[in-house]
Amino acid sequence: MSTAPGKSYRIGITMVDLFKMFPDDKTAEKWFESRIWKDGRRCPRCGNDDTVTGRHPRMSYYCHECDRYFSVKIGTVMESSKISYQKWAIATYLFATNLKGVSSMKLHRDLGITQKSAWFMVHRLRESWRKLAGVDQMEGPVEIDEAFFGGREGNKHADKKGTSKKTAVVGAKDRNTNRITASPVPETTKARLEHFIDGHVRQDAKKYTDENPSYSGLTNHESVRHSVGEYVRGMAHTNGMESFWAIMKRGYDGTFHHISEEHLHRYVNEFAGRHNIRTMDTMDMMNTVAENMAGSRLTYRRLVSHV
Ligand SMILES: [Zn+2]
Repeated sequence: MSTAPGKSYRIGITMVDLFKMFPDDKTAEKWFESRIWKDGRRCPRCGNDDTVTGRHPRMSYYCHECDRYFSVKIGTVMESSKISYQKWAIATYLFATNLKGVSSMKLHRDLGITQKSAWFMVHRLRESWRKLAGVDQMEGPVEIDEAFFGGREGNKHADKKGTSKKTAVVGAKDRNTNRITASPVPETTKARLEHFIDGHVRQDAKKYTDENPSYSGLTNHESVRHSVGEYVRGMAHTNGMESFWAIMKRGYDGTFHHISEEHLHRYVNEFAGRHNIRTMDTMDMMNTVAENMAGSRLTYRRLVSHV
């Protein structure tokens, strides 16, 4: 184990450590089982714990209640995936530790899987990060801010189809817990922003925003006037959210060529989720990510139909 750069108190894992931890597929499968079935092995279909080890080539267990084989992949984002446990474990590591995000091209090259499998895999991983990015009812003080993604210049064809417009993302950061949640919105109207704020921020929490008139009328609210060069006035600033957007934009420009609007919410989850676990030791990060794979599913059909 080595010390992660930048934070001397956080314990990192090198690639060498990683391959010692997951020397083969069986070890990786056991690790996923230990995280996803923390309270003991249960059939993911019926919840029964009367299960035995079976002889199925891909599914290690058999449920007497359902009369069916199962594996730890069932009921998680890994369900129906032919990609090995070892590769899923390595992908989990790459996702947790790459601050700028992981592109499907990187997984394609690093894991030796097809581009299509890699593309499906990154979206499945992002889907499972939804819970890490979810924050209910922040107590504050809270910074609320919005940013715009996409709509690259020079894409004339996309322009004509009307797909190059920028998509707004609104986010909130609780200064007390340092947690961030964010979500794409179709427009930055007062109604849309208030809907987001109502869902994530307690009404009595102190709220800081910029001077966007859509925020006017919020309770316990202070704003800074960016338009006249005011960025900080005492505690009134949105610097925490702005540095989050900067990291997300660096990932967007550096790692990804374009995230289409219909997949942007998963990308937002990935970045907010990574922010929320960033102070953990790498092993705790990986454990948390694996635990959150349960109860999330994303089928290929749903992914390509943009639901
Ligand atoms: Zn069962």
